[in-house]
Amino acid sequence: MTHKNPQTREWQTLSSDHHLAPFSDFKQLKEKGPRIITHAKGVYLWDSEGNQILDGMAGLWCVAIGYGRDELAEAASQQMRELPYYNLFFQTAHPPVLELSKAIADIAPEGMNHVFFTGSGSEGNDTMLRMVRHYWAIKGQPNKKTIISRVNGYHGSTVAGASLGGMTYMHEQGDLPIPGIVHIPQPYWFAEGGDMTPEAFGIWAANQLEEKILELGVDNVGAFIAEPIQGAGGVIVPPDSYWPRIKEILAKYDILFVADEVICGFGRTGEWFGSDFYGLKPDMMTIAKGLTSGYIPMGGLVVRDEVVAVLNEGGDFNHGFTYSGHPVAAAVALENIRIMREEKIIQRVHEKTAPYLQKRLRELSDHPLVGEVRGVGLLGAIELVKDKATRARYEGRGVGMICRQFCFDNGLIMRAVGDTMIIAPPLVISEAEIDELVAKARKCLDLTLSVLEG
Ligand SMILES: *Cc1c(COP(=O)(O)O)cnc(C)c1O
Repeated sequence: MTHKNPQTREWQTLSSDHHLAPFSDFKQLKEKGPRIITHAKGVYLWDSEGNQILDGMAGLWCVAIGYGRDELAEAASQQMRELPYYNLFFQTAHPPVLELSKAIADIAPEGMNHVFFTGSGSEGNDTMLRMVRHYWAIKGQPNKKTIISRVNGYHGSTVAGASLGGMTYMHEQGDLPIPGIVHIPQPYWFAEGGDMTPEAFGIWAANQLEEKILELGVDNVGAFIAEPIQGAGGVIVPPDSYWPRIKEILAKYDILFVADEVICGFGRTGEWFGSDFYGLKPDMMTIAKGLTSGYIPMGGLVVRDEVVAVLNEGGDFNHGFTYSGHPVAAAVALENIRIMREEKIIQRVHEKTAPYLQKRLRELSDHPLVGEVRGVGLLGAIELVKDKATRARYEGRGVGMICRQFCFDNGLIMRAVGDTMIIAPPLVISEAEIDELVAKARKCLDLTLSVLEG
C-alpha cells in the first residue's frame, strides 16, 4: 500500500515490530499494518493519511460527549496538579471519588446509592462475581455461587469477564468458562427465532432462565447477569415480551439481578441507563465506557442499598484495585456527567436524535441486502442477508467484513459482527451528521451488493 504521509509507514513498522493489538490476528495485522488515527473532534476522526472519518461507533461505544472537549482535559490537568494519585485501601478517600459516587447515585435507578470503582468494565464484572458470592456467604447461603449468563453476551475480557460472556471463540482460548458460570440462550430473534413470532420467541428465551434456575436448584444460583441490549453480540434488541417475562421470573426466585450497563448506561438508550429504558430493577449495575466518555479508563459496580446493608455485616471485602476510584479518572467522569446534565445531552437523544436516527436507519430496509434494521436510542443494527423472507445469509462470504472495509474506505466507521452491521455514534451526533451516516451506509451496502453479484 502506498502512503501520502511517509510517517504512516513508520508508525506501521513500529506496530509490526513492537505492538500486540487487542482482539487481533497478530500476523495478519503485521502484514497489513493498522490504520493510524491521529486526532479527532466531535463525531469525526482523522487518520495519518488525512482522511476524515465519521465515527459511527463512538470509539468502542464510549465517546458519549464526542471528541475534543477541552473541559475534560482541563479537569484531568487540574486534578493531576492537585492530587494525581492516592489509594482508597486503608481507610482513606479523596474528594473526586466521593463527589463522583454521589453524582452516580443521583442518576442511578432509585435505591442504588453506592459505587465500587474499578479500572474497566471487565474488572467491574470480576468485582460483581466476588461480591455476589460474598453476599450470599454472609447470608449463610454459600452454595448460591452459580451465575447465570447468556450465550453471545459480552461482559469483558478478564478471566471472569470472558467466562461470564457467552462468546465461544473467547472460551476456546484459555480453557473458559471458569466453574460456576452457565449460559442460557440469547433473545436474538432474527438469527435464532426460526418460525416463531418475535413475541413467542421472547417468552421462550426468557423461560430459559427459569428452567436453568430449576435445573440448578435455586439454592445454588447467586445471580443472573445480562446487558439490557446486547452490544458486542450484535446490538440485539430483545423482543418486547422478553424483559417483562424475565422480571416475573426474577421476582419469583431469590437471586440477584445484575444489569451490565457498560454500553447501555450513560444515555445510549435515551435514558440514563438501559434499566430505566426497560423498567428493570437491578441489584447491581456494571458501568464503564460512557462513564468517562472514554477519555480515561474507569469502570465500576453500582450496588443496591439492600445489598450494601448485607455487605456491611460481612467484615472486610478482600477485593480492590490499585486504581479503584483513581482521582484523575474520577475528576474526568464528574466533568463528563456535568456536561451531559448541563447540556441536556440525553434529553436531546431521547427527544430528537434517537427518533431521527431510528427513522432514517429503517429507510435502509428497502435495500436488497438488508433483512432487518433494528435499534434503540443511538444503537442500531443492520442485518445483511441473501434472502429477506427466509433470513438466509450469504454463507461463507464474509459479507460483514466486506461491508466494513467499504465503510472504512468511504469515511465511515461501522462495525461488523458476523453479517450484522452495527452502529453506536457519539450521543452528540447532529441530524445532519446522521444524514451523512445513513447516506454513507447506503453507499457501502450498494458497493457490498455489487461485489456479491459480480
Ligand atoms: C466493553 C464491555 C465490557 C468490558 O469493558 P472493558 O472496559 O473493555 O473491560 C463489559 N460489558 C459490556 C457490556 C461491554 O460492552
